[in-house]
Amino acid sequence: MKVTDHIAQAKETLMSFEVLPPLKGKGIEALYTHLNPLMEFKPAFINVTYHRSEHVFKKRVDGTFEKVIVRKRPGTESICAAIMNKYNVDTVPHLICGGFNINDTEDALINLRYLGIDNVLVLRGDAAKNETAFEPELGGHKYASELLKQVVDLNAGIYLDDELKGTHKTEFCIGVAGYPEKHFEAPNLDTDLQYLKAKVDAGADYIITQMFFDNKKYFAFVDACKAAGINVPIIPGLKPIYTKKQLTILPKTFSIELPTDLSNEVLKCKSDEEVEKVGAAWLLQQSKELKEYGVPVLHYYTLGRPVLIADVVKQLV
Ligand code: FAD
Repeated sequence: MKVTDHIAQAKETLMSFEVLPPLKGKGIEALYTHLNPLMEFKPAFINVTYHRSEHVFKKRVDGTFEKVIVRKRPGTESICAAIMNKYNVDTVPHLICGGFNINDTEDALINLRYLGIDNVLVLRGDAAKNETAFEPELGGHKYASELLKQVVDLNAGIYLDDELKGTHKTEFCIGVAGYPEKHFEAPNLDTDLQYLKAKVDAGADYIITQMFFDNKKYFAFVDACKAAGINVPIIPGLKPIYTKKQLTILPKTFSIELPTDLSNEVLKCKSDEEVEKVGAAWLLQQSKELKEYGVPVLHYYTLGRPVLIADVVKQLV
């Protein structure tokens, strides 16, 4: 079922979770162990992230280095199908521009339809580890909006090969990313919003936000989106803080700010166990306020802390 149908039929705020494919070598059981504590809350859908290959230098026995390409977390599409099969829940694979040319993208979309997947979250992806700025694949897309157009076209039965025009139409419900504190490359929030509006005008059905720790930023973002004529559901993305190190890592990695009250509380903690308690309390407070505000879905980035999130969510239902 489509994410937008879940939202349209819901009588109250829904819940959804984002997971990562397991690291190569771990097996899918590691993912099930991660998801099991969360499934009792009957999430409307589960997002599965996409991880492109990266170049790494491996040391040879003679001491010299060899440049090799590795993909540490493959399997997004098949993991979506496996989760649907095991838990009878809808899944949302993330689909990125990076590393794909338009033919790879078309084949990936066809594959997803064969697997019975109704949703995609369409993203540009970040620069590869060896690049300083995002570089599209040769014959690939530069922005999420271009990838979005390819999905919209396929939904209209427009394939890359003209001869296939008007054959089978896909029916993907398409999500895109939004940034309450602006995307790190955007010169300002207004410009970022114009590009977000372009994605919605081109056919995006809903937006999922980058994580934020200050609900005021989400509320202001929703207001700005409405003022700009963006009227699709805006799903807040939420993550707990659980180590002191995250005070510096999160702002640097995601270009977000942590509120002073939160950082002060974390700085007072003597151990990461204490930070986890502060993070859980903050996440619960954020979730309660967002639920009261009437957000369509509370979307949790579960990375590494499913039990913490389950404990928080338990207090919401
Ligand atoms: P875009 O919408 O293409 O925007 C990228 C930048 O370009 C922005 O600064 C925007 O303002 C600007 N821009 C957009 N269109 C134009 C244009 N026409 N001309 C000039 N500038 C333009 N990454 C992964 O690799 N895998 C994942 O699974 C993944 N999941 C994510 C899930 C969520 C909910 C979010 C919020 C992010 C996720 N990311 C993921 C990270 C995402 O790929 C990066 O944030 C990336 O840098 C931008 O992606 P985007 O889709 O927002 O890009």
